[in-house]
Amino acid sequence: MYRTHTCGELRAENRDQTVTLAGWVQKIRNLGAMTFIDLRDRYGITQLVVEEHSAEEVRRAASELGREYVVRATGKVVERASKNDRIPTGDIEVVLSALDILNASQTPPFTIEDHSDGGDELRMRYRFLDLRRNPLKNAMILRHRMAHEVRNFLDGRGFLEIETPYLIKSTPEGARDFVVPSRMNPGEFYALPQSPQTFKQLLMVAGYDRYFQIVRCFRDEDLRADRQPEFTQIDCEMSFVEREDVLATFEDMAKHLFRSLLGLSFEGAFPRMTWAEAMEKYGSDKPDIRFGMTFRDLTDAAKGKGFGVFDSAEYVGAICAEGCAGYTRKQLDALTDFVKRPQVGAKGMVYVRCEADGSFKSSVDKFYAQEDLAAWAARCGARPGDLILILSGARKQTLSALCELRLEMGSRLGLRPNDRFAPLWVIDFPLLEWDDETQRFYAMHHPFTAPKAEDIALFDTDPGRVRADAYDFVVNGMEIGGGSIRIFDSALQHRMFRVLGFTDEEAEKQFGFLMNAFKFGAPPHGGLAFGFDRFCSLFGGADSIRDYIAFPKNNSGRDVMIDSPSTISAAQLDELALGIKPQRAE
Ligand code: ASP
Repeated sequence: MYRTHTCGELRAENRDQTVTLAGWVQKIRNLGAMTFIDLRDRYGITQLVVEEHSAEEVRRAASELGREYVVRATGKVVERASKNDRIPTGDIEVVLSALDILNASQTPPFTIEDHSDGGDELRMRYRFLDLRRNPLKNAMILRHRMAHEVRNFLDGRGFLEIETPYLIKSTPEGARDFVVPSRMNPGEFYALPQSPQTFKQLLMVAGYDRYFQIVRCFRDEDLRADRQPEFTQIDCEMSFVEREDVLATFEDMAKHLFRSLLGLSFEGAFPRMTWAEAMEKYGSDKPDIRFGMTFRDLTDAAKGKGFGVFDSAEYVGAICAEGCAGYTRKQLDALTDFVKRPQVGAKGMVYVRCEADGSFKSSVDKFYAQEDLAAWAARCGARPGDLILILSGARKQTLSALCELRLEMGSRLGLRPNDRFAPLWVIDFPLLEWDDETQRFYAMHHPFTAPKAEDIALFDTDPGRVRADAYDFVVNGMEIGGGSIRIFDSALQHRMFRVLGFTDEEAEKQFGFLMNAFKFGAPPHGGLAFGFDRFCSLFGGADSIRDYIAFPKNNSGRDVMIDSPSTISAAQLDELALGIKPQRAE
């Protein structure tokens, strides 16, 4: 027998029992007469003791141990003289009567401790060792529990988990497809699903009115910090539903997860905000509403006093940082540098200090009288002691820069603690997004999203103003989920494809299967998908989804542990009827 107990299990009640444990050697302390060994497995750490009068074989085995050796240890549980209250097994230790080395280990390239000395790249290469560490282990446990609770909840609501294929045809979620060559059909390719979108809609046509799947999705995107080329969604779809039905169901699911995994309850319904309001007040379709500091439009108030920057701006917007009037020149310069970063993109920043005596001091005093500044302050709801920060320029860019500035101020002021959760639904997204570069509309969500009934008339006259029955679930400034009510009528779907610039032939070629299915009695339907990895990282309080994926890719999309992607042999290429173009010299 390899073990009678795990390394996290024994307590004072087990005293005098003879037990066998198996695990990895975390630490060895040789004190001459006695040797202490910390033995670790998934469940915890137990202290083993080898004494001076222990059997010769036991002492010899103990002297040969190194870090991460795999051993089996048998002995008697005794209560410790000096207890360790930092670990659950700290009241006891096991005095060994037998010790077998099951396997030796090379010295690990970094320490297997909560705070490891290994760099990112090294730990990625030895991910199997990194996964032995508590922070990653706890992330995997959280992920498992979240998946379990999702299944629990959805099963209770009558949802069926149904798998959909990975080798498919392009799905339009707005990224590039990963493609897989078909050996049996030379010159033809499968695409890996960016999401199961079209399949879940086909399942609705098939009558499976409540579907879900915890499913891998593949998107060939340039990797920003928090993206992975393959990631997991909680993908869901329902038939005979309106928006309210979908939101109610998944608000309940989110609340169930908050309660069962974090012990948090929310009073009442999650707030809702239209996309237009989110953009106007927060400059973002995923506002962080853990704190206020919403935007105030100063455009009309700021113009016409001879300050060229504001006079020529399409939009002048402000935020009010409470209690920050005392910011030093240096702090203000740092903020100006922040907004001027290319990622933020503002040209400069104007400030107004609301002094304790009720007067105002600003970087544009030359152009504005005290009454002007007082009017701005009133509009911003600023009180003495507050600091008003103003950005200006083209509307879209300025809203986005002000959003960054607001988040930065929120962080500086400690208003974004990651143990506070502020969920909301953002609703009524625009259906389409105009792209200046290609001079055409793109679907803001995806082409199967239904326009709001009252906006359908605008389709032919002013498509840019059509709102969609689409919604996002946002928590703490992160998009955790999103979905929509779908088009279920093939004529409207055809109209949508036309607005998106597809010819009828192109639409037929790419999505004919769906259009065809819609001719056989498609029910009204809608759904959404949650980013499962991100949901986990939100609950775990981490910035990165990477920690919640057992074997993630690095920032260049590589798996450095298995060294992938990699080349394939000439024979394989041949079999696939593929050739590799010579690389152009840089
Ligand atoms: N397929 C969508 C996505 O991946 C979600 C949905 O509309 O249900 O974002």
